[in-house]
Amino acid sequence: MKDRTLLMIPGPVEFEPAVLGALGHPTASHVAPDFIEIFGACIEQMRKVWMAPSSQPLILAGTGTLAMDTAGANLVEPGDKTLVISTGFFGERFAELLKRYGAEVAILRAPLGGIVESKTIEAELKKSTYKLMVFTHVDTSTGVLMNPVEIGKLGLRYDVLTVLDGVCSVAGEEIRQEEWGIDVVLTASQKAIGVPPGLALLAVGPKAMSKWRSRKTPVLNYYGDWGNWLPIMEAYEARKPSYFGTPAVNHICALHVSLSQVLNEGLEKRFKRHKRIGDSCKAAASAIGLKQVPLQPEFAASTMTALYYPDTVNGPELLSKIKEAGVVLAGGLHPDIKAKYFRIGHMGAVKPGDILATIGAIETGLARCGHSFETGRGVYTVQEYLSQ
Ligand code: PMP
Repeated sequence: MKDRTLLMIPGPVEFEPAVLGALGHPTASHVAPDFIEIFGACIEQMRKVWMAPSSQPLILAGTGTLAMDTAGANLVEPGDKTLVISTGFFGERFAELLKRYGAEVAILRAPLGGIVESKTIEAELKKSTYKLMVFTHVDTSTGVLMNPVEIGKLGLRYDVLTVLDGVCSVAGEEIRQEEWGIDVVLTASQKAIGVPPGLALLAVGPKAMSKWRSRKTPVLNYYGDWGNWLPIMEAYEARKPSYFGTPAVNHICALHVSLSQVLNEGLEKRFKRHKRIGDSCKAAASAIGLKQVPLQPEFAASTMTALYYPDTVNGPELLSKIKEAGVVLAGGLHPDIKAKYFRIGHMGAVKPGDILATIGAIETGLARCGHSFETGRGVYTVQEYLSQ
């Protein structure tokens, strides 16, 4: 493993060996009794991880974009008014896909690095009647965290379905779907869920299911039509064989291992671990003079950190020096500042030592790029922070 680098991007992340081991097992038939048991157990585990006991979980082969796509396709009928609360790149993506399904889309855009305030959302909901409101819990292009509690309340108050894009948050940031009144929480496997890319995961609450059931027009997406998948999810949960499209057998076995680990750790502990690690990374970055993209500390996610390059440093050169020091980080994604910042992912299996290694590699990279700063200050800050 001497050539191993540490993958610290905001997805895919480092995965637990037991999860990777499950991917390498001989592939079972999708109707083998052992596999049916595993699939059924994953559905039950998802309800716990999402804290959504009355929801219908869906496990589909695909990526996070498919999870967004299937939520849009099933909940929107042509002409429906939808509100997108955009804190970056992925909010804009949601708006585009909703338009494909004929939605009339209004967008409330946050300033770069900022959030959309609840009072702004409420003013819009007072002005017009919406069927659906979508928001990104953590927008991976900015590292900005939105407050789902407020949005859940607004959804209930104004009778608007709420969809939370939790691709960069589920199983890392605190989410209590049912208690907070969020109708759909969707994610993908490759981030805090802890399974390599390949699964789209959604928990659909009762109100969203009933809106979907009362559709007047067909779902304009064949693969993603919940009507095709609901009987399959129900059959697996009842431990019965079924088939619509071949499930991603190995990925689902890996999901079972990972969700078991998540539940064994305990959700409260897991949220705290992410917060502590995220805070230590941000404290270290600021100790060596790196500025965050989120405009205020309380807007910043626990699962990732987005940092501006210092003015004196060439971004691609810095990332390449950090990689030489053993850590892979991600460049920018938000089109307005793409070349000006970089991103660190710290979720799922992440451990305190990974942040030490990451901050150490960033310091090495900065020094090799000729940037002057107090060397060692970042690593010291992580140690201080994590020893408290
Ligand atoms: N939403 C968010 C918040 C994301 O971070 C991502 C992926 N980075 C997606 C949606 C899309 O997921 P995928 O790349 O798996 O399609």
